[in-house]
Amino acid sequence: MDEQSYVSLEQRLCLVCGLPFDTGNLLLDKRLRPSMARHTTTGWGLCAEHQALFDDGFVALVECDPERSGVSAGVGTLRPEQAYRTGRLAHLRRDVFMRLFDASIADGQACVFIEPGVIAQLKTMVSAPR
Ligand SMILES: [Zn+2]
Repeated sequence: MDEQSYVSLEQRLCLVCGLPFDTGNLLLDKRLRPSMARHTTTGWGLCAEHQALFDDGFVALVECDPERSGVSAGVGTLRPEQAYRTGRLAHLRRDVFMRLFDASIADGQACVFIEPGVIAQLKTMVSAPR
């Protein structure tokens, strides 16, 4: 049983891996009422690992299943809460990403959602003889 308390540890969900991580912040109920569970998820962010990759200039490609995500128009327009992650990830340098996909990417953007098969295709490009 998760007991209610007036303090709670803030967690966010990582945009890239979809897993909750601790932000290190304590949330306090203003009226000191036991209103919260041990952990409270407040939104989206980047876990330590993926924040570090983002800081290093990588963009994360997050593979999503369009059917399970409930969109047919392509996963490019997915909102994070809709995305059904397959668990496959790839990281590309931002300049490499823009060259390969012929797409620009906003400075603050840490990840893009891609369809199944894209990562497998990238792997064949990387391992192909030059
Ligand atoms: Zn993460």
